[in-house]
Amino acid sequence: METNLVCQSCGMPFTAEVQKGIEKDGSKSSLYCTYCYQSGAFTRPGLTFADMEAIVRNQMAQIGESEESIRRALNVLPHLKRWKGDPHLL
Ligand SMILES: [Zn+2]
Repeated sequence: METNLVCQSCGMPFTAEVQKGIEKDGSKSSLYCTYCYQSGAFTRPGLTFADMEAIVRNQMAQIGESEESIRRALNVLPHLKRWKGDPHLL
């Protein structure tokens, strides 16, 4: 999967401009989605990698995604900018 076309925090694909987060100056973020990023900062700054895994799993399960799709999304997470080099990965 192309990681630069997904949110670099939660892995959600950008399918519309409105899904992009907002920088401090009001411009759109090209890295993070609106759920993760507002006014130039993460909406949940204390979130750990394990927290994000749980959120992605729950949300995808809620909208009826298959176990296979969920596993693929979770596999992408460690490659995203927010989690690269995160100590919680170990
Ligand atoms: Zn996101």
